[in-house]
Amino acid sequence: MFEEKGILFILSGPSGVGKGTVRQRLFEQETHLKYSVSATTREKRAGEQEGIDYFYTTKEQFEAMIQNGELLEHAQYVENYYGTPRAYVEEQLEKGNDVFLEIEVQGALQVKENFPEGVFIFLFPPSLEELKNRIIGRGTESDELVRNRLKEAEKEISMMSEYDYVVVNDDVDQAVQKIKAVITSEHCKRERIEAEYKKILEG
Ligand code: 5GP
Repeated sequence: MFEEKGILFILSGPSGVGKGTVRQRLFEQETHLKYSVSATTREKRAGEQEGIDYFYTTKEQFEAMIQNGELLEHAQYVENYYGTPRAYVEEQLEKGNDVFLEIEVQGALQVKENFPEGVFIFLFPPSLEELKNRIIGRGTESDELVRNRLKEAEKEISMMSEYDYVVVNDDVDQAVQKIKAVITSEHCKRERIEAEYKKILEG
């Protein structure tokens, strides 16, 4: 109906929360989404493919990409670089395709600065109940352990304030359903379609 531009969705969250698994399951169901393949300096793992899982680069090649402004964001994670090639994202959005990034938190915050119109989804660790138990423990843990857990939880929770949506990943299928609902809702947002309606009225 409309010449709608695509929407950039960013899935992020603390390490170990299951972003990769949720993203894979989502892509089995949502064939219209375009996955932005990241560049990385990390070694290719068994079963991974160049251009499908990542673009594997040397440190020098990656640093040249940074210098040339070819990355929408980049971050260092466990001694390796990871980054999102800008050109693909911009081309696909321009064509009207939705683009999906699955990246760690530092990178997501950079995208937020450069691309505030993106939709930021925070994947929260497995269950709120588990988080509570992890903090309180069984009452046998040392004060220090409880304090450390509290600090970790505070960090996780404070990160979510930059995001538009929070999805708890206690069940992969439910998390995927919620992300699909976010995608649908975003396409119905008044702000995104109002201008097009006005064009119709103006003839
Ligand atoms: P892995 O090495 O396990 O594939 O990924 C490690 C972490 O890097 C994951 O949290 C993943 O989401 C994140 N990651 C993957 N690609 C990118 C990227 O382009 N930018 C950023 N900032 N993080 C990424």
